[in-house]
Amino acid sequence: MCGLQYKMPLVPNGLVVEDETYIDDAIQLTVRAMADFAACPSCGVSSRRVHSRYIRNVSDLPSSGRAVRLLVVTRRFRCQATHCPRRIFSERFGDTVIPVRIQRTARLDGLVPHLGLALGGRPAACFAKRLMVPVSNDTLLRVVRRRALPRVEPLNIVGIDD
Ligand SMILES: [Zn+2]
Repeated sequence: MCGLQYKMPLVPNGLVVEDETYIDDAIQLTVRAMADFAACPSCGVSSRRVHSRYIRNVSDLPSSGRAVRLLVVTRRFRCQATHCPRRIFSERFGDTVIPVRIQRTARLDGLVPHLGLALGGRPAACFAKRLMVPVSNDTLLRVVRRRALPRVEPLNIVGIDD
């Protein structure tokens, strides 16, 4: 124990649960954003005019020995700003909740590099499976490689007199 009192909500912040289903060793939660508006990623203007909805499949941290899958009801909004070139946009949940183009919540995604770095690709994938964390060997390797890339420091300009 690290001595910290730590409470983690059932679903990431900003989401509310609409439905729950138990399927074998998994819990499937249908969730949606709490807010009834979203900001256009191009112009930043908020909109409440919903165009349509679709489902994003996202994995979350396991709960009570079961994998947790989120069916995230994602809305497409009409941008109402007259100067904006974007007519329709999908709501975003924030990089600390559900990052764009990643099928894991941020709190689950934060574990992946630790597993990969501690155990390596295939052993980490086996351990992740036992932990009910749905992550493949390829994903572990990709995340570790991305983290291992050397940072490119900006070149200092060195004068001829230095
Ligand atoms: Zn816009």
